[in-house]
Amino acid sequence: MSTTTNHLDGAEFLSAENKGLAEPAPRFKNLTKTCDYSSKNNMGVAAAIPQFQDWREAAHQVKKFSIANLDKLIVQFESNMKARGAEVMFAQDAAEANRMVLEIAREHNVKSVVKSKSMVTEELELNHVLEGAGIRPIETDLGEYIVQLAKQRPIHLVTPAMHFTAAEVGELFHKTLGEPYSAEHAKLAAIARKNLRNDYLTAEMGVSGCNFAIADTGTVVVVENEGNAGLSTATPPVHIVLVGIEKVIPRIDDLPLFLNLLGRSGTGQKLTAYTHLIHGPAVGKKLYVIFLDNGRTKVLQDPHAWQSLFCIRCGACLNACPVYRRVGGWSYGWVYPGPIGAVLTPHLVGLHKAAELPFASSLCGACNEVCPVKIDIPHQLVHLRHRAVNEPSPMNSPFERMTWKVWAWAMRGPRRYAMAMGAVRIGVRVAKYLPWHFGKLGAWTRGRELPKVPASSFRAWWRNRQNTSQPPKEKP
Ligand code: SF4
Repeated sequence: MSTTTNHLDGAEFLSAENKGLAEPAPRFKNLTKTCDYSSKNNMGVAAAIPQFQDWREAAHQVKKFSIANLDKLIVQFESNMKARGAEVMFAQDAAEANRMVLEIAREHNVKSVVKSKSMVTEELELNHVLEGAGIRPIETDLGEYIVQLAKQRPIHLVTPAMHFTAAEVGELFHKTLGEPYSAEHAKLAAIARKNLRNDYLTAEMGVSGCNFAIADTGTVVVVENEGNAGLSTATPPVHIVLVGIEKVIPRIDDLPLFLNLLGRSGTGQKLTAYTHLIHGPAVGKKLYVIFLDNGRTKVLQDPHAWQSLFCIRCGACLNACPVYRRVGGWSYGWVYPGPIGAVLTPHLVGLHKAAELPFASSLCGACNEVCPVKIDIPHQLVHLRHRAVNEPSPMNSPFERMTWKVWAWAMRGPRRYAMAMGAVRIGVRVAKYLPWHFGKLGAWTRGRELPKVPASSFRAWWRNRQNTSQPPKEKP
């Protein structure tokens, strides 16, 4: 199973090592159950609010305005934030953002960093970069803490350790922290709290993401449930906020709308337990806000793809997706899993590296129904599929093109069709004697059986039926 955080060298959706596809491990069964529970819970919470659909439409419109006016809104945010003493920087890509973080860390003689949950830092692989520079990164969100100790990467946008049972966490804490084994939730939380407490107090720097960057007030908004983000951002003398450029919203008056939607769609809560509004550095402390592009402005060049930047990372589409529930987040090969990952990843890392992902969907539309900002994910996927087969990508290889040419030829006439179906019937009969569980194909074939070939084709059966059936007798 894929647990590395290395940069994507081609989506691993059909990777042979990905057990989620062929043989679901018990942890993937946990995942399916938890997603099902979360999805029903979120939908129940939404259904209880008559105006929920109006909220979704309003949020969609605010996001549409924000993305269309990103340039102006970011400048407005920058000038408001700078006026209160923070530094605002812009990174073109992951390498530049990492360089900025390291420079700040060196300037402040940082030895350890407490991090609150941030998908952007996963995108940068910041932990590896910090470790490479001799700086100890400590994840403080409980789920992130667990996956960091287990040397894995998050399996879900909102609940990174969703695949762990309490017993597995107990064993992990025992093995890595030397704590007595327990499978009780309260005891496990207490162990994490005890071990993290000293890290908050000694770390020279805190790093956080940002759920919303509000332009008209220059405010960074961070939402969370555990209190760890508050401690990570307020305790150390230096705080770096890493934020994707798409997180800007125009007005502080828009915030309640998004908070209402995010909590309900993410975890089924009316509101997350903590909402931090950071307006500038505290007295005697330093605050840096680094905006990250990393491929986002490329998305802006494609008007059909804009909507993918509306995402507020609530994770509802993952919980609702029948594919994600079956294969888990690592299968998507990069930081962003599930339906929105299948859209964002090809945009951000390049279609040539992730062309398979848009095809990892049944297009059932479940994601579309739950998305709080009404991103039309199925159409985004279809758009990317169109691009994947028309632009340079593995889905546009000479083999693919030839296969579809043969298919199109076969579909163009009844005789050709009958011939092709005859060949398929023979092929299926022969294939069961072949050793075909190898390479990429093996990841697919190991979990599936060949269909049974009926004695005659449907067309032959129908013809026969027409010839032999008697007209109904007329009533006397
Ligand atoms: S695409 Fe929509 S449902 Fe999925 S994570 Fe983003 S905001 Fe949530």
